[in-house]
Amino acid sequence: MCMHCDYNEILNTASLDPTRNRLRVLEVIGNNSFPLSVSDIHDTLERTTPINRVTVYRILDLLVEKGVVDRISTGGRAAYYGLAPNSHHRAHPHFYCTACGQMDCLDPGALNVEFRRFADTFPGRIDKLEMRLDGVCKNCLKRELANEK
Ligand SMILES: [Zn+2]
Ligand SMILES: [Zn+2]
Ligand SMILES: [Zn+2]
Repeated sequence: MCMHCDYNEILNTASLDPTRNRLRVLEVIGNNSFPLSVSDIHDTLERTTPINRVTVYRILDLLVEKGVVDRISTGGRAAYYGLAPNSHHRAHPHFYCTACGQMDCLDPGALNVEFRRFADTFPGRIDKLEMRLDGVCKNCLKRELANEK
């Protein structure tokens, strides 16, 4: 759980009314240490108070559009949601396991792709750099090796 993020303030800064459901969705995403799928988010919310799945989708679309939440693609149709970088969360790469579909957050310094200088000379505007490493996670790798024996 993050001690720094004030979810109310994050929504206010993005000019969004901090409605109860928006706050709940943002809390579930912000309090998790790795990005979540829509199903993960919906399941977690359902544990406390029932919420319509369409409502969750609508809130996620809005939070992504306002730059509060990042939609992290898998290269396929699935997507995961994580807090967008803010004053105390640095942009960071993700690792996606193509075997089990688990998405993990990597250390911000794990891969150093410095694009700011490039952005300064780029004639357009760069808003976001998405870095995703695809591969097989250690658990799946262990399973693969065990099956080969
Ligand atoms: Zn935080
Ligand atoms: Zn895996
Ligand atoms: Zn992340």
